[in-house]
Amino acid sequence: MMSALGYALAIGVLVLADEQHWVMIRPAYALLWGLGLAPVFFLLLIRCGLNRIFKDPAMTMPQLMVAVSFAAWIYSLGGYLRDAILLVVCPLLAWGFHFLRARQIRLVSLYALASLGSAMVYLMLWRAGQYDMGGELLRFMLLALVIFLIWQSTQDRGDDEDSWLERLLTLVLTGDPKQRLRLQRFLVAATNFAICTVVLLYAIRTGAVDRQAGAMLSAYMTTQSVLFYVVLRSGLNLRFPDPSLTFPQIIVAITCVVGSYAILRDSRGASLMLLVMVLVFGMFNLTARQARFASLFALSLQGAAMWGLVHWQPGYFTPRQELIHFLFACTVLPTISLLSGQLSDLRERLRQRKDDLTLALERIQTLATRDELTGLYNRRHMMDVLVQQAKVADGGGRVFCVVLIDIDLFKSVNDMHGHGVGDEVLRHFAQLVQNAIGSSDYFARWGGEEFLLVLTDCRLAHAQACLQRIHRVINDASLSKSMPTLKVTFSAGVTERVCGEASEAVIERADRGLYRAKQTGRDKTYAVA
Ligand code: GH3
Ligand code: MG
Ligand code: MG
Repeated sequence: MMSALGYALAIGVLVLADEQHWVMIRPAYALLWGLGLAPVFFLLLIRCGLNRIFKDPAMTMPQLMVAVSFAAWIYSLGGYLRDAILLVVCPLLAWGFHFLRARQIRLVSLYALASLGSAMVYLMLWRAGQYDMGGELLRFMLLALVIFLIWQSTQDRGDDEDSWLERLLTLVLTGDPKQRLRLQRFLVAATNFAICTVVLLYAIRTGAVDRQAGAMLSAYMTTQSVLFYVVLRSGLNLRFPDPSLTFPQIIVAITCVVGSYAILRDSRGASLMLLVMVLVFGMFNLTARQARFASLFALSLQGAAMWGLVHWQPGYFTPRQELIHFLFACTVLPTISLLSGQLSDLRERLRQRKDDLTLALERIQTLATRDELTGLYNRRHMMDVLVQQAKVADGGGRVFCVVLIDIDLFKSVNDMHGHGVGDEVLRHFAQLVQNAIGSSDYFARWGGEEFLLVLTDCRLAHAQACLQRIHRVINDASLSKSMPTLKVTFSAGVTERVCGEASEAVIERADRGLYRAKQTGRDKTYAVA
């Protein structure tokens, strides 16, 4: 219904444009009929449920294609409507973003470029008297820029990959994601420079700008773009504290804009707008100090250029007019610098908060998964580990062993030496066993003086050998600094997990083994198959 409203609006505007003579030729009846029938056609399709046979029942892509075709048709009517159509097509494509897959977006945007491009060629070739090449070329480049940006943003989606495109992008933008982002940002600025250069060349051709000065500025803009690209692409930028080179790029851009002010004569007011744009670009990346410096630099250079123009060509440039321009710059640029500062502070605060949150999250994770006394995994986390290991084992047809360990007569350690020594023994015990097992095994405090050990990818015989080793380590070790002669032993029940078995059943079997080990004299491991 929304798009139907859009079509109705288009018909209304066309009829109005015809009456007001905004278009050079009457819109064909076929066009008006088409505009009227297209929404009816889609409405009928959806109402009958025929849309369900498509992969995307919303039919976003065909609807967009049809809309773009009509846009190109209307564009070919010429007149002021051309720019209005471009203004409609760009948000239309952006709107499609949310509903289409990356490949579809690229297809639709290419189709838009091709169909509108054909309309432009039609105007240039068949109605050459009214439409000059420069204007159409500029419009085409603007559209291409928008579509280029759309392609760029679909890059991150990853919902379908074009390998040749990826290879091309790697060649132009490198494979390193951070460098690629920097180059992409640079290319947006470079595209702006390219458009400005085209406009400048056009101005030279029409005589609005002095040929020599214009050529020099164009050469300067092109050279600096190429130089920045080479520095960024070669990785030389990584040697600087800010590898995105935002600050130097902004400073150079300011010199370009002031240069254009100096040579644009009648249209020089427009370049003040560009000055604002350059500083706004910096808003998001410069520090508060850099932003202040950039706006001060822009203001001084702009002031110097104005003074120079009035001084050297007093007949053409009047002090009054230059002063008005300068005062305008004096109010706008410091405001931007102020806003940049605030943005930079905001970024800093956000970064700080993000760091704090990351730390807090790490701490919460430790608290949730670790035992406080020994630093081993706690019981809750070990249950998760068991479930996860069971999945891995079942998926790969592997087995693992579960061992339940209990320190012998630990109560008497507490009773004879105190709770503090008991804690110390538990810590040392945990550390020694942890050091004795492999890096892919898991060891947790199961509760009190009980521990659970998971030996991954391991058969029962191997687990028993491993436990013999641990018994020896504990027997030889001194577990308390204050009581060097204090010795403890442990009993253990070990079992091998059968494929598909629940964790609780395995633990229960290991517990039975532990019970038997305790009953048959302690300081031993009892295996239950
Ligand atoms: P058995 O060989 O039969 O296992 O004898 P035991 O004395 O080790 O067994 P029992 O389960 O009766 O005693 C466990 C003792 O472990 C009781 C408790 O005070 C002590 N204990 C449990 N948790 C801690 C702890 O965090 N620190 C200290 N110091 N002692 C603990
Ligand atoms: Mg116990
Ligand atoms: Mg015990």
